[in-house]
Amino acid sequence: MSSHPHIVLPWAVRRTCLPLLTLQCVDCPSGRATTGNGRFRVNANGKLLDVWLLVNCLSCDRTSKLTVHDRVPVRSLPADLLAGYTANSPALVADTLLAPSIARRNRYALDWDGCWELHAPPVPEDPWPLQITVTFDDPVPIRPERLIAHGLGISRKEVARRVKIDIPLNRKTTLDFSFVLVWSVH
Ligand SMILES: [Zn+2]
Repeated sequence: MSSHPHIVLPWAVRRTCLPLLTLQCVDCPSGRATTGNGRFRVNANGKLLDVWLLVNCLSCDRTSKLTVHDRVPVRSLPADLLAGYTANSPALVADTLLAPSIARRNRYALDWDGCWELHAPPVPEDPWPLQITVTFDDPVPIRPERLIAHGLGISRKEVARRVKIDIPLNRKTTLDFSFVLVWSVH
């Protein structure tokens, strides 16, 4: 890395709402569902518990159950977690919906279109170069080139010319990264 001092600007990617699910409805051709306000269903069967997250088809409103816990011993769940399921805790709904293990188990993908925003302070005119660190507060998969072009208000062509970065510009990521912006690359 250059020894020149950088101005470091923090960017953050955050969700503005919960993403929709890409999930095939069993009753209609729709492939999209929503958690709506977020509801769990907890069913006790003796000493075993089932916990589901309920989602609704966007088209016909049919309710589907996403398996969160399948016949687990009651005692194996921490009391505050169980209380969160029972109270339909919004934070727990989000954590559950966004958990990759839950998505794999229930075979859905997330559609983040229109559900996230970039928090970016204004870029100073001077001095250059500028280092920008990008933090993902939520796991929104996005191509760095798209995010950078959006954040700086420049074209993707200009991004390719002016950005020094250690990861592929055109591969979606949800991992924090940083880049350096220069006037031109010599
Ligand atoms: Zn449906």
